[in-house]
Amino acid sequence: IVARDTHPQGSVVNVRGIPVGGPQVQIIGGPCSVETQEQMNLSADAVAAAGCSMMRGGAFKPRTSPYAFQGLGVTGLEYFQKAAKRHNLPVVTELMDVRMLDTFMAYDVDVIQIGARNMQNFDLLKEVGRVNKPVILKRGLSATIAEWLMAAEYIAAGGNHNIIFCERGIRTFETAYRNVLDITAIPVLKRETHLPVIVDPSHAGGKAWMVPALAQAAVAAGADGLLIEMHPSPCDAWCDADQALTPEELKTLMGSLRAIAQAI
Ligand code: PEP
Ligand code: MN
Repeated sequence: IVARDTHPQGSVVNVRGIPVGGPQVQIIGGPCSVETQEQMNLSADAVAAAGCSMMRGGAFKPRTSPYAFQGLGVTGLEYFQKAAKRHNLPVVTELMDVRMLDTFMAYDVDVIQIGARNMQNFDLLKEVGRVNKPVILKRGLSATIAEWLMAAEYIAAGGNHNIIFCERGIRTFETAYRNVLDITAIPVLKRETHLPVIVDPSHAGGKAWMVPALAQAAVAAGADGLLIEMHPSPCDAWCDADQALTPEELKTLMGSLRAIAQAI
């Protein structure tokens, strides 16, 4: 279903009227995790001011340590929706557990994010395949392109074809940065599938100073959008503080991305 030859012209995923996969590059900005109502309000203001078209933020966090902050859960969804509504921003948030799917639907989450660690959680993929909601499918930590395409096929097979691929860096021998952003995946996926492809430069590099270069490269390589972490006060972030842009840095980056998008 996701193979390019089924829709050679490419398909557009519609997120509350915002086209992902069309001529426009869509930028999704926001914090790694939902922390407080004030943090989310400030984040929403910054995301809107920078000109992003959607907002991200995790209420359920897949943390390496079980003792690290795990997310606010349903309270986080409440803070997120309240903040995003101030600017009519569609809400993008990660679903980790199939038991929370009804809650995500009840809270009117606009885009369900399937995180890297769940790319091959096949039961979760089957369930999001049964709902009529756009899904961002992140690439697994060490997933091949073929495995990633098959993961999308699990979702599509249930009837939900609103799938957006998200390259977020893969694990290699290199330890100088968090992950290796696989730029090659962009043209390869665009050839293999008709679905949109976005890039997360934040989890790829793992450092805020790397984000502009990776984001610019992704847009130049044909990405349909970007998922970027931004925090009103990065050094105070509860999660992924090192890679969060400030509101000002996000705004500056948006200007250069627009210029690159127009040039290609
Ligand atoms: C995230 O986007 O917050 C996240 C946890 O990303 P990934 O699943 O790519 O590690
Ligand atoms: Mn994060």
